[in-house]
Amino acid sequence: MQNCLCRAKLFSAAQKYIGTSFKLWGRSADTGLDCVGTLSLSLQNIGFVGDIPIGYSLRQRSNKRISDFFTRPEFCPINIDSAYHVAGNIIMVRPDARQVHFAITAGRGLSAIHAYHAVQSVVCAPMPDNWPISGAWKYCACPTSSGQ
Ligand SMILES: [Zn+2]
Repeated sequence: MQNCLCRAKLFSAAQKYIGTSFKLWGRSADTGLDCVGTLSLSLQNIGFVGDIPIGYSLRQRSNKRISDFFTRPEFCPINIDSAYHVAGNIIMVRPDARQVHFAITAGRGLSAIHAYHAVQSVVCAPMPDNWPISGAWKYCACPTSSGQ
């Protein structure tokens, strides 16, 4: 549904983790989060059941497990060129050719919420513009969303 609140809810949920310390593989707001942890917890906060697969590799050229995860019906692929325009979209970016990183868009410029290792914290800040988007999804858990 175009006008559902799922993205707004995801963005609000992610905002709660701004300021949480960065921890590689971290899955707890108390002890630290990485980018996948931030996204997982934000999704779980708004009722998503399930984890982004443990054992994913953010440094794998083929990120098959991650790609498989986003084939779930709650995730709808969207145009990467307009992904930053709306708050609450999920983006996968490439800080370098071998690495992927996840963020939740803020709907302002290139801003997004993500666990940023460079500042050791979850931030809402402009993403480096040399981190191209390689995938973008809209999360929607509305009952009518499947098959859209
Ligand atoms: Zn929805």
